[in-house]
Amino acid sequence: MRIRLADVTKRYLREGSLRVASDEPPALDHISLDIADGETVSVVGPSGCGKSTLLRLVAGLETADCGTVHYDEHDVADVAPQDRGIGMVFQDYALYPTMKGAGNLKYYFDVHRRTEDEARARAKEIADIMGVGFELLLGQQTTTLSGGEQQRVAIARCIVRDPTLFLMDEPIVNLDAKLRESTRMEMAKLLKRYGITTMFVTHDQQEAVFMGDRIALMRAGRVVQIGTFDELYYSP
Ligand code: ADP
Ligand code: ADP
Repeated sequence: MRIRLADVTKRYLREGSLRVASDEPPALDHISLDIADGETVSVVGPSGCGKSTLLRLVAGLETADCGTVHYDEHDVADVAPQDRGIGMVFQDYALYPTMKGAGNLKYYFDVHRRTEDEARARAKEIADIMGVGFELLLGQQTTTLSGGEQQRVAIARCIVRDPTLFLMDEPIVNLDAKLRESTRMEMAKLLKRYGITTMFVTHDQQEAVFMGDRIALMRAGRVVQIGTFDELYYSP
């Protein structure tokens, strides 16, 4: 799915205020972005620059004050939440003991017109690449897992649902360095394999470069640069 943002601005209400203070800088300031179907764009920048707001806005969890967000040719406001097909993983994503896993795989794959055999083969492949148990993927209780295992299960469960758009906000920031490295390799492999359009938020430039086909550099609510690694770091 192609994602297009055209001139999007977003201000938050100041706490206890009914009106937006016009002297405050907006969280997102005239952002335009065009993400191709199957592309991974890393969003990198310092804390408070608007990365999470951007992701929530693309997910349709926040509305823009002005500007538009399109999924292919549809305005996000015209797409019902259950039809958006979005997978999201956050840094502090906790797999609650009662949380359902991929559960009824057949349901997800009916939506995407795949057979049950294809569904199971794909789920097995995802479980293998992410190094998580197939049963965990399908919804086995996860109370005894370590943080790193939980996060990998969370990512795998998102991908097995066949999302049209995958949004990750610092998904591996809380893992130790070694685990971060292996997890990002697994993630990159899966995103390439299935061609899922992805936005990947991080404050780690190296990680942004590793994960992204393109990297969007944000400062103070703006995308100040966007391009491939070569375009950003080697162009004159
Ligand atoms: P991150 O940098 O990982 O996005 P933040 O500390 O910026 O973490 O934000 C954590 C949560 O707190 C987010 O859901 C964000 O929307 C919310 N938040 C951030 N700043 C404010 C604020 N000034 N007022 C209310 N909520 C905020
Ligand atoms: P980042 O993810 O890059 O850390 P955020 O999108 O969380 O940045 O925040 C961008 C700006 O918007 C910050 O100044 C933050 O304090 C503010 N902000 C974020 N969420 C809220 C909120 N729910 N209410 C008020 N201000 C917020």
